[in-house]
Amino acid sequence: YAKRLGGDRIEVFKQALRAQKTDRLAMESDLRRALERSEIALVYQPVVRLADRTLAGFEALVRWDHPRLGRLPPAEFIAIAEETGLIVELGLFVLDRAARQLYQWQQLMPLDPPLFTAVNVSSRQLLRHDLLQDIKGVLARAPVARGSLKIELTESLVMENPEYAAQMLTRIRELGAGLSLDDFGTGYSSLAYLQRFPFDTIKIDKSFVRADSRGIRPVMLRSIIALGHDLGMDVVAEGAEIDADAVELYQLGCDFAQGYAFGEPMTPEQATRLLKDATAQAA
Ligand code: C2E
Ligand code: MG
Ligand code: MG
Ligand code: MG
Repeated sequence: YAKRLGGDRIEVFKQALRAQKTDRLAMESDLRRALERSEIALVYQPVVRLADRTLAGFEALVRWDHPRLGRLPPAEFIAIAEETGLIVELGLFVLDRAARQLYQWQQLMPLDPPLFTAVNVSSRQLLRHDLLQDIKGVLARAPVARGSLKIELTESLVMENPEYAAQMLTRIRELGAGLSLDDFGTGYSSLAYLQRFPFDTIKIDKSFVRADSRGIRPVMLRSIIALGHDLGMDVVAEGAEIDADAVELYQLGCDFAQGYAFGEPMTPEQATRLLKDATAQAA
């Protein structure tokens, strides 16, 4: 009896595994077709200048409108895209789309300093030398203000191979793109390297901004902000969920913030409207 039960259990387990595998395979082939079928969309989250609460830029965030599963967040497909190599095509699509949109916004509503858009780039993309050609092509098609298209890379990614990363980053800067260091504080950045990387912006990870351990939070934030400023970088905090977060960040000297306090990721149409309102107010 025990043996039969065990056997049944193993059978159930095997079935679950098989189902998972077919799901995964189905997702892979769905993703292959997603670009052709225009199922990949970008949403834009506002980044606000804390000194006067004005709109400074956006972060472009990818979404997949899956025909059966609905709108999927990146957590559900970026890993698959990376493992299958589809990230190269997907990443180029995102860069190109975001740059064209930014160019259009800058033409329509010139701001001083110019509006920026940050675009996330994954390790598989950075490891390809062709990324440089891709960025060059994208900027030729969408000649945005220098530095206003910001390539956003995570700390762990650049620390994987700091020598190589430093070279690539320098070239990316030379092409006229900006560079933003994402999720700062979650990895193990060597400060010596940080100084050698030509980032113009660091983004403090939301875990520092949201931490409920009120005691240590200002201390950590103050140090990270001072470090960024000492290295000549702008500092953005992500995950500012409530107004009190934004007030505290401003008091601690942070330049920009992004988070639900200022707006969730929105459609390009909503972002355009927000930008129009912002420029109307400034005029
Ligand atoms: P990230 O670059 O750190 O982006 C910030 C994430 O925090 C976004 O999640 C955003 O929606 C979310 N967020 C914004 N405000 C708040 C807030 O106030 N509170 C909290 N709790 N969360 C907030 P999302 O859009 O699901 O993206 C997750 C991650 O997926 C991104 O983290 C980024 O690493 C990656 N990703 C997004 N778009 C792309 C892309 O086009 N290419 C690549 N390679 N990765 C991407
Ligand atoms: Mg990011
Ligand atoms: Mg981030
Ligand atoms: Mg983060």
